[in-house]
Order: sequence, then structure tokens, then C-alpha cells
Amino acid sequence: MKLWNKIWAIINQETSYVNESHRTAVLLRCVYLVMIVYHFIFFCLMGFRGLFREGGFHVSWLAVISIAVTLILFRLSYRQKISTNLKLFIVADILWLGVFVFLYGWGCGAQQIMFVMLVLVYFSFYDALAQKAAFTAGLFLTRFIMFSYTQNFEPYAALPDTLALVLQVWSSLSFFTLMGIICGFYSSNIETADKQLVLYNQRLREEARTDPLTGLWNRRAMRDFLNLNMKNYPQMPFSIAMGDIDFFKRVNDTYGHDCGDAVLKWLTAHLVLMIEGKGQICRFGGEEFLLYFPDMNGDEAAVLLNELILMLARTPFDWHGNKILISMTFGVEEYDFHSDLETLIKKSDEKLYLGKNQGRNQVVF
Ligand code: GH3
Ligand code: MG
Ligand code: MG
Repeated sequence: MKLWNKIWAIINQETSYVNESHRTAVLLRCVYLVMIVYHFIFFCLMGFRGLFREGGFHVSWLAVISIAVTLILFRLSYRQKISTNLKLFIVADILWLGVFVFLYGWGCGAQQIMFVMLVLVYFSFYDALAQKAAFTAGLFLTRFIMFSYTQNFEPYAALPDTLALVLQVWSSLSFFTLMGIICGFYSSNIETADKQLVLYNQRLREEARTDPLTGLWNRRAMRDFLNLNMKNYPQMPFSIAMGDIDFFKRVNDTYGHDCGDAVLKWLTAHLVLMIEGKGQICRFGGEEFLLYFPDMNGDEAAVLLNELILMLARTPFDWHGNKILISMTFGVEEYDFHSDLETLIKKSDEKLYLGKNQGRNQVVF
């Protein structure tokens, strides 16, 4: 476990290049580690004695050189641009593959590494699709040339059938593992990005519907909600009320804008308490609120609002020891089953202004 933590700390180190994708660097380092293990097992399978045996020179040195090159690439991944590092990896591994196929032929399965390269290039580079397609074509051509060569010439150091088979299984296992790591990495990347996008959109939608000061729905959210309700339940009776704080400008002028804001929040809490479970409320504008009372006629809504008016008369708002009496005027309109929402709002607004002219602090229905 400790060893794994150490390895992970090495893989996870930051690159010194700014603006580099740290995650892609980490992925490449994982790829390099798997490749090092791949070459090492290959080396073991071939027998390190081959190093010193006559004619065995090429057999094991190829693995040793490959490990050294991969280690250099690994090291470079800390200070090099990741795209450059990946390009170097591809060049180095195509060279390695060329030598490998020349030495051992087609039967060991090393050529499958090309699929790993393909996936890496498609997912890690932000190049145009045309460039990626050109790379694909180039890779295919390289593979075709290598294959044709092995069809026409014997391998330089043909392996016994059993060993070739073992190597083929080992190549398949290694490159499948690599494909798994790369695909898993990018699919989790896509999932994360998708989730973030969904959350971001949700937040944007919420923000577009919410008044930042009071946290209430804004006019638009309420309009959408009411229009939808009227469309879906055309036979449902309801009432609406437009409410406006009396002499609110005076509060701002006397105690400051902060006090005005605090009053709006305080009043919101009372309005929400009154309407909770009975209907909906929104901040319609500056110090105006639109209330919705489903399944209530105008008289019933007016009773509730009058209770609120009485409560406000008994409960002054406290601003640093100053007791400020807040009152509101409401205009109530009952749904007549044929007017549209805008007409209803306009009528409730007219009643509100009637209430203002009649001395404020009242409900007009
Ligand atoms: P009336 O009784 O006729 O409604 O008088 P009023 O003073 O309330 O009406 P008026 O329309 O003249 O003033 C409304 C004030 O509400 C003016 C504006 O500065 C204030 N206001 C609107 N939105 C906000 C807000 O978000 N915060 C604060 N502090 N004040 C606000
Ligand atoms: Mg007002
Ligand atoms: Mg007003």
C-alpha cells in the first residue's frame, strides 16, 4: 500500500509547464509504466541470459533499450509539453515496433500497440479531425508495410512457436489493459464534464428564476408557473393579489438602503410564513409582491391578507433598536375563468392603487 502511494505520488506530480492538462500527463505516465512492465516481462520471457549468449544480443537488448527510452519519456513528461511528449512516445514506439517486427515477425502481437496510439491521439490532442484522420491513414500504411514485409521475409530471429504464443498473449493482455485505462480515463472525464454541465445549467436556470435579495421567485418564474397552471387546470378557481409596501421610499431615505433591504427580507419571511402550503409568492418588482392563492376565492384570500396586515401592525421591524412599523396595501383579483393572466395582474394592480389612494394599509377586493 505504501509502495503504491509512493508510485502514485510520482505519477501524480505536477508538470512545470503552465496550462498543461495535468490529467493527460498522469494518464501518459500510467501508459509508460504499463509499457515498462510490458518490456520487462518480455525481457524476462526471453531470458536475460540472451544478453550474453552468442546471437542473443538483439533478443534482450531491445527490451532494455525500450525500457530506458520509456523512462526518459516518463522523466520528460514533467517538464515537456504533454503533446510533444506524446508525439515522442508515438515516434519512439513506431521505431520500436519496426525493429520488433523485423526481429520476431508478426506473430508476437506487438503491432496491437497501434490501437493504443490511435486512441491516445484521438482523445488527447485538440487537433482538427483532418489531422487525426491523416495520422490514422499514416498508421494504417505503416502497419500495412510492416505486415507486407513479414509476409515476404523471414523474421531475423524467429522465435519458437510456444514462446511466440506466450508473447502474443502477453501483448494482448498489456495493450487491452492500456486501452482499458485510456478509455476509462476519458469516459470518466466526459462523465464529470457532463455532470458539471448539468449542474451549471441547473444553477443558471435557478438563478434566472430567483430574486437574489429575497430568494423568492422572480416575476418571470411566477408568470411561467401561473400560465402553465391556467393551461393545465383551466377549471381550477384561484385568486391573485398584488402587494406593495407603503411609503417604502421613506424607509430608505430615513434609515438607508441597507435597512430597506433588511425590511424586504424580513417581510419576505412573514409573507412566506403566511402563504406556505396555501399558494405561491414572487417578488414582482422593487417592493411589490405577487401572491397566488389556488382554490381560494377573493374573499378567502382577502381574509388571509388582512390577518397579515394586522400582524404587521403589531410587529414593528427592529433596525438597530429603531422600531419601524411596516404596512402594505394589497389588490385582490379572483379568476373569472376567461381572462388571461396579464389582465388579472392589471386588475389587481388597479385595485392596489385604489387602496393606495384610499389611505394605504388595506386590502382591496
Ligand atoms: P407607496 O406607498 O406609494 O408605495 O410609496 P413608496 O415610497 O413605497 O413608493 P415608491 O414607488 O415611491 O418607492 C418605492 C421605493 O422602493 C423606491 C426604491 O428606491 C425602493 N426600492 C425598490 N427596490 C428596492 C430594493 O431592492 N432595496 C431597497 N432598499 N429599496 C428598494
Ligand atoms: Mg410602495
Ligand atoms: Mg411600488
